Amino acid sequence: MINRKKIESILTGSGFLDYCWINPRRIIVSQWVRVKCVFGCSGYGSGTCPPNTPTVEECRRFFSEYNNGLIVHLTKLAEKDSYPSDWSGQMTDRLLEIEKQVFLQGNYKAFLLNQACCSVCEDCSGNRTDCKDKSRARPSPEGFAVDVYQTVRRAGMKINVISESPSEMNRIAILLVN
Ligand code: SF4
Repeated sequence: MINRKKIESILTGSGFLDYCWINPRRIIVSQWVRVKCVFGCSGYGSGTCPPNTPTVEECRRFFSEYNNGLIVHLTKLAEKDSYPSDWSGQMTDRLLEIEKQVFLQGNYKAFLLNQACCSVCEDCSGNRTDCKDKSRARPSPEGFAVDVYQTVRRAGMKINVISESPSEMNRIAILLVN
């Protein structure tokens, strides 16, 4: 039995107040997400993105091995063409620390799907073997073929495509617990 209250206090203590629990078997994994990674995403080929991630079918199997996960919703006011890299780096640091704290509670399967493609290094190796910071590199939900919009809505949270700029940008992390 996991201690949800304790995990929630770690999250809120780190400033993440918008979250909800999800059965990871209800995470929607779709082939179209992978196609959009391959065609149209500037992150394709970076160290934690396709083709350096498991196949869509393997991703589905991966989620089916978990019983409890958390969707964490982050927002940041940003211009469309000016990604807030410093903010994103700070969020990644905090989320990795939460993953570590949840692991140390005895949840040995704890694994973070980060709120963005890995951007730990300025010059990404582009593959797993030569990754320069293997202990901190994590894939995004999209890199694991998650249909983020449908999954977040299924969990009862609101998320919409943003058309205005500047605007409150949405970022979604998923912390798989056990
Ligand atoms: S840690 Fe660096 S090299 Fe590794 S995936 Fe992230 S950006 Fe690429």
